[in-house]
Amino acid sequence: MTKKTSYKIATLGSHTALQILKGAHDEGFKTICICRKDNADFYKSYKFVDEIILVDNWTSFFKIEDRLIKENAILIPHGSFVSYIKPENVEKIKVMHYGTKGILEWESDRRKERKWLQMAKINTPKIYEKPEDIDRPVIVKFHGALGGKGYFIANNPKEFHERIKEYPNEKDYALQEYVVGVPLYIHYFHSSLTGELEIMSFDKRYESNADSIGRIAAKDQLDVKIRTSYTITGNMPLVVRESLLPEMYEMGKRVVEASKKLVGKGLFGPFCLETIVDPDLKFYVFEISARIVAGTNPYINGSPYTWLKYDVPMSTGRRIALEIKRAIKAGKLEKILG
Ligand code: AMP
Repeated sequence: MTKKTSYKIATLGSHTALQILKGAHDEGFKTICICRKDNADFYKSYKFVDEIILVDNWTSFFKIEDRLIKENAILIPHGSFVSYIKPENVEKIKVMHYGTKGILEWESDRRKERKWLQMAKINTPKIYEKPEDIDRPVIVKFHGALGGKGYFIANNPKEFHERIKEYPNEKDYALQEYVVGVPLYIHYFHSSLTGELEIMSFDKRYESNADSIGRIAAKDQLDVKIRTSYTITGNMPLVVRESLLPEMYEMGKRVVEASKKLVGKGLFGPFCLETIVDPDLKFYVFEISARIVAGTNPYINGSPYTWLKYDVPMSTGRRIALEIKRAIKAGKLEKILG
């Protein structure tokens, strides 16, 4: 095994690239940021970015892959990476890739994701197979909708059929019980080296116009026919009632355990359970993200929870680099690559 300094950490310039590359730099790695022309200057402006590799567009990632291999780079996937490269192409990646590739398929397919959550005995919102069955508010989610854009709420079959007319080209959607509660996103890190699970941080999302609709009176909302939309614009940091932590920890453990039955080495590294918590403090998990989420961005300088475990500011990006460093040192790199 070569020394850690001869490995580089690479990611696409988007999503959580800043904390991934800053974290890698802080742990002693050289860093590579894969950029498009239009965002290269921005990433170049950070000293912890050692090298920029330009691509014409994100889909031409495979054209620069050989260069990454030559540079002995370890690629860190993030949310934008998965959506640009497409989950079905992730398996084709030849450069060293942090995390289990196969698991990304389980998070990107709603049916598979649900099966995974059920195996882990996680409570999920009810799913309706057909519109005629709608007996309570449902959120209609289009497949591949970016950042919750275009979702709508329907209270009954009639309302659904009315609203769906606005989307004549959308045939692939899920009808999910709309849970009235607070959104709470739990960020975890599971080490495949030690088997330990850590709660890294929490966030709530800042979604337009769902989070802005309350700024105008209900009458005005109706008068101007405002449609609720969940387009994500940012993330807000959060701490939770301490009494909720043990249950969240157990949920994370079960999700990791179940993942081992689904694909190879299972889920490890950073992941997130996206939940709504109802007034009885019951968790409804509506999504898993099997990689670093943008909700960790408020914690580039560490979170209250990572401060309990580490003596240095530990972002999720830095935690990834630390794990890679430990794997290299122990001669167990294969345990964290997939
Ligand atoms: P998603 O694209 O599944 O991440 O959902 C986008 C946003 O819609 C979430 O961040 C929540 O604010 C909201 N949302 C999604 N599913 C539900 C649900 N079952 N009940 C209530 N709100 C939801």
